[in-house]
Amino acid sequence: MYKITLIPGDGIGPEIAEAARKCLDATGVKINWDIQDAGLDTYEKEGNPLPDRVLASIKKNKVALKGPTTTPVGAGFRSINVKLRQELNLFANFRPIKSYPGVRSKYENIDLIVVRENIEDLYAGIEFEEASAEAKELIKFLETKNFSVRPDSALGVKPISIYRSEAIARFALDYARKNGRKKVTAVHKANIMKYTDGLFLATAKQAAAEYPEIEFEDRIVDNMCMQLVQKPELYDVLVLPNLYGDIISDLCSGLAGGLGTAPGANFGEGLAVFEAIHGSAPKYKGLNKVNPCALILSGVLMLKYLGEGEAADRLEKAVAETIKEGKYVTYDLKPDRDDPTAVGTREMAEEIIRKLRITN
Ligand code: NAD
Repeated sequence: MYKITLIPGDGIGPEIAEAARKCLDATGVKINWDIQDAGLDTYEKEGNPLPDRVLASIKKNKVALKGPTTTPVGAGFRSINVKLRQELNLFANFRPIKSYPGVRSKYENIDLIVVRENIEDLYAGIEFEEASAEAKELIKFLETKNFSVRPDSALGVKPISIYRSEAIARFALDYARKNGRKKVTAVHKANIMKYTDGLFLATAKQAAAEYPEIEFEDRIVDNMCMQLVQKPELYDVLVLPNLYGDIISDLCSGLAGGLGTAPGANFGEGLAVFEAIHGSAPKYKGLNKVNPCALILSGVLMLKYLGEGEAADRLEKAVAETIKEGKYVTYDLKPDRDDPTAVGTREMAEEIIRKLRITN
């Protein structure tokens, strides 16, 4: 029996978390779920969107499945995801993106692994509000170094370390080595950010020298976007600093047909939190409308991590068959998004469970 933290999250989170929990239970793998609320509703109730009990539960159970959580734009509390990743040192964000037959896309056979550094870069949250004492002091200091910064500027700091660049590069290279992947592409903007992205690139290059069987190359991030849209089949494993990784993984899930089938995981030392790439889609909250597959497939990654590979394969197969059949699928998987035959989140999960029972 595994004890696993389940964070339903907010927005569409509770609905897809319920669907994923039921699908995972239906595999026959015995899980005792430690349900921990976090997110916008928890903030409204408890004054803290990520109470200590949630972190304590993950530290104790070592594995969590997490629904999406809302982060207010521009103001309000800081991202729960960023805090979770920083507090638990979940340094590697892993997003396998592939085409499932039946998902509408202009592309076929997308099979990309996006490995994103998860702790530092502009996501470290080192920001100073415009006209704050800190911003004024920093601007004064920058002037002594001949940098001209407008006095009405807000400022952000982008830390990129050798330590974390090496850790994420090795994570990507090790994954490639263990999983028969051929190539790792480091993505950066080192032509402009010579010290920060330059350090990321140089460190990744150095690490790659120890993996002679893996082809290593690099791309400037803007060119990478264009290349992925034009010839995604040329790429295999991508490794990126935090911000580019966040953006490029949404782009890649778009190539494979959307966020509805794009899973993810955050890995640290002996800890792992599994979550979909997509967010809390607040406009669909409580409507039993959205696709539960991204979180169910994050659960598949979780089963693999737990060593339950056979159950993981059965669940993924049931998801893939349900999508391919196209009958009991949510609106986003129908050719016409207004198709009245689209089913809800619950009904799609029930169909996946029905298929799973046939193969059990
Ligand atoms: P989003 O991912 O919630 O939604 C983007 C688009 O994808 C929307 O059109 C939405 O309807 C669609 N979509 C998302 N999930 C879907 C699903 N399961 N099935 C079908 N369609 C789906 O991104 P957003 O609107 O930019 O962000 C909403 C909130 O989510 C923000 O507060 C953001 O900070 C947060 N967010 C959280 C996480 C996380 O918790 N890991 C990740 C990304 C965004």
